[in-house]
This record gives sequence, structure tokens and C-alpha cells, in this order.
Amino acid sequence: MSPLADNQWFTEVFDRHGSAFSLKVSEKLLDVQSAYQHLEVYATETFGNLMVLDGCVMLTDRDNFLYHEMIAHPALFTHQQPERVVIIGGGDCGTLKEVLRHPSVQHVTQIDIDEEVTKAAERFFPALVDANDDPRAELLFADGVKWVDEAEDESIDVLIIDSTDPVGPAEGLFKTEFLTRCHRILKPGGVMVQQSESPLYHSGSIIRELRRDMREAGFSSVATLPFPQPVYPSGWWSVTLAGKQCSVESFREEAVAEHTMPLQYYTLAAHRGALTLPPFMRQALDET
Ligand code: SAM
Repeated sequence: MSPLADNQWFTEVFDRHGSAFSLKVSEKLLDVQSAYQHLEVYATETFGNLMVLDGCVMLTDRDNFLYHEMIAHPALFTHQQPERVVIIGGGDCGTLKEVLRHPSVQHVTQIDIDEEVTKAAERFFPALVDANDDPRAELLFADGVKWVDEAEDESIDVLIIDSTDPVGPAEGLFKTEFLTRCHRILKPGGVMVQQSESPLYHSGSIIRELRRDMREAGFSSVATLPFPQPVYPSGWWSVTLAGKQCSVESFREEAVAEHTMPLQYYTLAAHRGALTLPPFMRQALDET
């Protein structure tokens, strides 16, 4: 029998792609069926704690900085003066922590459908929640689709969709109608960013469709930024930015060069490099 089949390993199988990812675990710390999803937390041997939702890896202590820095900083440094920020999903609070590093930000509302995710982060990922008592942060537990539906027109500078995959509760977050409403609630010059799955597995499908739908929703400019993410399918992930009456292909380079935030991945060169899509992606996106 393969050693991966014993219960010392957590394995996520990506059946459609004929691949899988495993981490050696030492203990199961939490197993909760919430009203929305099955939530598990494991202690692993080499990646710290691991959070899993409906069998899919969400994050580990060791590499979550890659995702959280890349979903937050490119969008915030693209916007000219981000003050009012909204995060849909993101219940682990890692994105919130990155957003709060920006001194121009005056208020951040995070809306996750599932409070159990935040409770688990508070217990097992204390480093991610240590900015939650910042007076600029507001945590709500509700359906992000409904929240966006009811939000005021042109009231937000940066909108971050830090969701699970486009199945289950997050399905509505990838629909054209939702993107149209996101466009409506952004101020002119506003920037939206959405986690957009694997460049290798999804460039010709989810990413291409998301970019098309963003343009159809009225966004004037769209950019997909790939970055490494060892624990996600294919080991590689992406975020897609969209600008309302502004370009997301340029950003405040001087501000990036001068900031003093203690970041571990995001740099001027990382942002510039991520904006240059590899030829295979451009081809799959039908944008050669
Ligand atoms: N980094 C992760 C990834 O790409 O796999 C996402 C992390 S974060 C934990 C995803 C969050 O999205 C979950 O906490 C889930 O509860 C939330 N979520 C899913 N659908 C949602 C919805 N309709 N409204 C608000 N939050 C939602």
C-alpha cells in the first residue's frame, strides 16, 4: 500500500486534472460541519497548521503569505488613494491583515458567510488575526452576494473577492451579475480583485471567462497576476484585477519602492513581473 494512503497524510485530489497534493499531518485539531461547509484544521509536520474547507486546502502557516500579499497589495498599490476597502470571503483574516498595513486605508469591511472560519483562525492561526482589533476593521458574517447587492452605488475604493472555489457558497461570486454589481458599488477609479484559480489548469476556462465577464460588467481594464502557491492545485495561483475607469496595468511604483511594510513576497519587481503574462497564458486567454 502507498504510504500516502495511511492516515498520516492529508491528501487533496484534483481528479479533473489527474493530480493531488499531500501534507504529512501529525494531528487533527478541528472537525466542524458548519451551516455552509466542512471545516478541518490539521497540524502538519512541515507546513505548520493547515485549514481545509470541503476537502480543499485553504491555507497553511508556512505559505499563506504568498496568497495574502498578492491578493491585497497589487490592488491597493494600483488604486491611487485606497481609503474604503471591502473584502468578500477572507474569513481567515490574512487578507484583512495585509490591507490594514496601508496607512491610507480608513475603513475595511470583511464579509464572510461563515463565522466558523474566523473562529478557527482565532484558535489555530493567531498570526493572521492579530490586526483584527484595529479600529478601522469591521467583521460581518453574511452572504457576500447579498451584501454587494444592497451596498450603496460608488461607495468603495477597493473590492477584494477572497473566496473559495466557484462551487457551493462561492458559486455566485463568479457570476456576471455579481461582477456588474461590484462595478456599480466601486467609485470611479476603483479597483476590484478576485482570486482566479490556477494559471496552468484554468487559463483557458475560469480565468478567461472571468476576464471576459469583468469587461462585460463594464470594467475598462483587466490584468491577471500569477504567483507561486505550493499548496494549491498545480502549485501556482492567480488573482485578476479589474479597474473602473482606470488602468490596472500600471501601479504606484514609487510607493511600492518606498513602503516599509514587513512583506515576504510582494515587491516592485514581483508586481512588474506578474503583469507580464507568459506566452502560454496569453494563448489560452485568447489574447496573443
Ligand atoms: N485562499 C483561499 C482559496 O483561494 O482557496 C480562500 C480563503 S477564505 C478561507 C475563503 C472564504 O470564502 C471562506 O471562509 C468562505 O466561508 C468564504 N465564502 C464562500 N462563499 C462566500 C459568500 N458567498 N459570501 C461570503 N463569503 C464566502
